[in-house]
Amino acid sequence: MRTDYSRSVRLGGLAAGVNETTLRERMEGSPVHLTADGCLPAVAETLEVLVADLRRWPVPLSLDPGHEPGRLDDALVRRLVETAAGIDPDRPLRIGAPPGEAPLRLHVGTEPTPDVAVAGAPDGHGARLRHAGHPFPGLNAPGTGLGAVLTAAMLAGEAFKVVAGLPEGKFQVTPVVDFCPVLPGEQPGTAVAPPPELERVLLGGGGAIGTGIALILDLLRVSGELAVVDREVFEKPNVTSYSTGTLAEAAALLPKVRLIAARLRRIAVTPFHGTVQDAIEAVDTGTLPWPRTVLGGLDSVSARHDLQRLHADLTLDGSTGGPVGTTVALHEALPTGPCLRCYYKADHTGKSAEQRLNELTGLPLARIARGQEPLTEQDLEGLDDQQRQLVRQFLGRPVCGLINSPELGGGTDDVFRPSAAFVAQQAACLVVGAWIARSTGLITGPVRRIEYDTRFGPQPDQMTDHWAPVPECACQKDAALIERVREFRRTRR
Ligand SMILES: [Zn+2]
Repeated sequence: MRTDYSRSVRLGGLAAGVNETTLRERMEGSPVHLTADGCLPAVAETLEVLVADLRRWPVPLSLDPGHEPGRLDDALVRRLVETAAGIDPDRPLRIGAPPGEAPLRLHVGTEPTPDVAVAGAPDGHGARLRHAGHPFPGLNAPGTGLGAVLTAAMLAGEAFKVVAGLPEGKFQVTPVVDFCPVLPGEQPGTAVAPPPELERVLLGGGGAIGTGIALILDLLRVSGELAVVDREVFEKPNVTSYSTGTLAEAAALLPKVRLIAARLRRIAVTPFHGTVQDAIEAVDTGTLPWPRTVLGGLDSVSARHDLQRLHADLTLDGSTGGPVGTTVALHEALPTGPCLRCYYKADHTGKSAEQRLNELTGLPLARIARGQEPLTEQDLEGLDDQQRQLVRQFLGRPVCGLINSPELGGGTDDVFRPSAAFVAQQAACLVVGAWIARSTGLITGPVRRIEYDTRFGPQPDQMTDHWAPVPECACQKDAALIERVREFRRTRR
């Protein structure tokens, strides 16, 4: 069984504007070399996530354990080798000097050698990144599991710009990044509140974002109880886009909820293998506890609308998307509004089917408007290589209905959807950061929508906005009914 890089390579190809074969060859010729300070708090967690994220691309990957003091201990190095082998046994993590010349050098720690391109370190729940020539300040707090995942995901994001060869203008190098997903806008390490126990919390979706949330909860050593809802099984292409799961586990075709339950060693997980609608029915018949907080990692608008109908006190929805799949967002939603239906109907992330089809395929909106006319060779003119390759398979079919075709990620699965663990993990960090902030009272007041493109990095002063409920939304028109349903579920058990 060979590792399937299709999804991570697809995202890279979209972002770089080249076809998947070119992108794959580019990555195979782009070695990445890692070093780390073994004395840094949370260095093990950061490296485990970083090695896995980089192994989810076909790049040559090496790690130098370094010298005393700060040498990585042998047990950790063995674990990292195993982590890489679990994702792709044919591309082992090489220990020692880099194989090729001029690798991209990444460092976990605050004192990189001058040849390191980018270094990163968790600071409390946040991350600090520095490009060569920009020194780190002193850290405020020991890194947590959340800070570790964010640091690793952002370092992988910096590597992505180089190994995918993003063209000028399609990304930004920010030499200094300081970001905390618990208190965006504050310095990392300011928020050090330990996460509370999970109580009446439900995770909706065990995919790219859901496994990212599970990874963070595990590395944060959170305890308590968590219901996990997902209807799918873990398959081979998921290995290179999810945050947990090995090639061997994909061969076993485990339900995703089982995979997550196995990962969360300190949490009593109730795996619910079914749809969100099934979970709502289970809540109303009393077989599943009514969650008061919902963490969402779903990828369709309709599933999000279902999630909202759990009518929890607070829903924290994570998403990835944007023109090439590199944009991450958090939507905080309330049963009284703004709810997920407010966000995902009227806003510009909840785009029309025509707009989404235009973004996915490059077909002009004017052409999409002539929905009944079958696609012809002529329609391929004006598309780039990647888009042509995608659209060619639909020749002879009418344009309307394409958006729901499985090849484009409509319908039930996410076959087309470009996906990369380092992107989904940043969305997951926003969700878990908001959960910590809201459940410990660090953040009160109106709900927020936070959004940034990982190619450009978080922009603390311009990525947050507040939404008013949409007057014609069900959360406003059916407010009395929703409150009655909540009252019924509150007293149910
Ligand atoms: Zn609403």
